[in-house]
Amino acid sequence: MSEALLSAYKIVKKFGDKEVLSEINLTIQPGEVVAILGPSGSGKSTLLRCLNGLETITSGEIFFKNQQLLLTEKNWQKVRPEIGMVFQSYDLFPNKTVLENLKVGPVKVQNRKAAEVENEALEWLDRVGLRDRANDYPRQLSGGQKQRVAIVRSLVMNPSLMLFDEVTASLDPENVREVLEVILELAETDKTLLIVTHEMAFAKQVSDRIIFMADGEIVEEAATEEFFENPQTERAITFLRSLDFSKL
Ligand code: ADP
Ligand code: MG
Repeated sequence: MSEALLSAYKIVKKFGDKEVLSEINLTIQPGEVVAILGPSGSGKSTLLRCLNGLETITSGEIFFKNQQLLLTEKNWQKVRPEIGMVFQSYDLFPNKTVLENLKVGPVKVQNRKAAEVENEALEWLDRVGLRDRANDYPRQLSGGQKQRVAIVRSLVMNPSLMLFDEVTASLDPENVREVLEVILELAETDKTLLIVTHEMAFAKQVSDRIIFMADGEIVEEAATEEFFENPQTERAITFLRSLDFSKL
């Protein structure tokens, strides 16, 4: 077994008799930042959900830190905090403050000391520019601020792999950049990131490598610069032509 952080072999996912992922093979090295691109409906979200156990795979194998991920409760209790995921919707508890939202996972799931978690959460809030919002409720925040809190909520669990699924897709345009900046900063750390995004300028800037999906398959996989400058397949070329590269 290699020292890959995550490897997946021939993952198949079916919903009923509809095959949504077709024998996906994937290897992610520690510290890598990989962007997953592809048209809507190509299976990107389903792939991420399979990698963190929100969906069971129909067949195939997934290894995380050389340990096979089996969907037994015991196994997942151990692995789940190590794989963080941030979605389009923030899903913060509306009746808890920002700080309370951030403490739930580490204190309830990881049994860590509240005081220690609080310090760490405040440090992260500081880094994403929201320290002064610690005692606010989610409804008092903008979409971009809520999404930054959601990212911090994942970070305080100290995951070694973070999955981002179109985290800016539901934000107003003026809130997109502040969220992307946080991820760009994370990419400079030793965190391993797997990012599904439609923001091409961002994908280009943030990632080391591109995985391009269509119809449940990985159609193309290349170093980021290579993918954008010299896409190899007709599908990738058509996809890239249809996109707006102008903004970060
Ligand atoms: P993407 O994220 O690339 O837009 P998805 O992974 O969301 O693609 O979806 C891939 C395909 O799987 C789509 O055809 C979608 O309709 C289907 N799909 C996703 N989730 C479900 C589900 N829970 N039940 C049935 N079909 C699903
Ligand atoms: Mg999706």
